[in-house]
Amino acid sequence: MSLMIDLHSHSNISDGMLSPVELIEHAAMHRVDVLALTDHDDTSGLKIAAIEAERWGLQLINGVEISVTWKKRTLHIVGLKINPDFPPLKAGLEKIRAGRHIRAEGMAAGLDKIGITGSLKGAYEYAKEGIISRTHFARFLVSTGYAKDNKSVFKNYLVKGKPGYFEHEWASLEDAVSWIVGSGGVAVIAHPGRYDLGRTNMLLLLEEFRALGGTAIEVVTGSHTVDQYVEFAKYAHQFGLKASQGSDYHGKGLSYMEMGRLPALPSNCEPVWQGWAEIDVAESNAE
Ligand code: AMP
Ligand code: MN
Ligand code: MN
Ligand code: MN
Repeated sequence: MSLMIDLHSHSNISDGMLSPVELIEHAAMHRVDVLALTDHDDTSGLKIAAIEAERWGLQLINGVEISVTWKKRTLHIVGLKINPDFPPLKAGLEKIRAGRHIRAEGMAAGLDKIGITGSLKGAYEYAKEGIISRTHFARFLVSTGYAKDNKSVFKNYLVKGKPGYFEHEWASLEDAVSWIVGSGGVAVIAHPGRYDLGRTNMLLLLEEFRALGGTAIEVVTGSHTVDQYVEFAKYAHQFGLKASQGSDYHGKGLSYMEMGRLPALPSNCEPVWQGWAEIDVAESNAE
């Protein structure tokens, strides 16, 4: 029996629907054996998730998904097997979270201008003690009837060129990779098929990422098509990068993929988890 490995997921510490404890239970119920919790710019769910994972016999990987600006575009870099207490990582994430508050005010001001008031307070009510993100604005806008669902609210209000979009500078690629790697973790480019970079910039990104100490790219992820699995397996091979897989689960109505449904990596990929003690241990337990 092969293990169900899911190296990308969100709790309500960032923009997921489930608490870290509920997320672990959900993963276990969907037969996930190894789960990385990778909240956006925040690692505060990892401790409680680890305790819950232990109860379910699920192997938890400490993760994070860092927001990065590269060539004026937003990219997401996943860190796996990170040490959340590594001071530069902690400080870096704190700074990103502070930036999120300022950005949220800018987003709300943009929405105010078109007559949508109260979005700042409304979004924060969904964010609770976690980070503030576009997903929380989306939930406010859907609940107040400005859009019918999450997908259309992004398209009409929250992407570049729309009133609720606010240009923001995230961490640099270099910093994000160095915080992750410096903490003992492995850096992975999240959902490379979502950036719309064009071939030239994709090649530049992969080259630069590898030179900075990046290890892998997500080949199988909830937002990739089957063709993109093949495409990014090729890129990984070409650049000597390993391959990762993850659902990017956010909760019902917010995710591309339910947990426990990930197809296997294409056979020409070298899995990012090859040789990880965490997974070998889980494997021997499973037998
Ligand atoms: P933020 O980091 O605040 O910009 O929020 C980004 C999050 O919004 C992503 O991690 C997704 O969960 C969600 N998201 C981004 N684009 C879309 C989209 N087009 N449709 C639905 N959700 C999206
Ligand atoms: Mn998200
Ligand atoms: Mn992402
Ligand atoms: Mn994600």
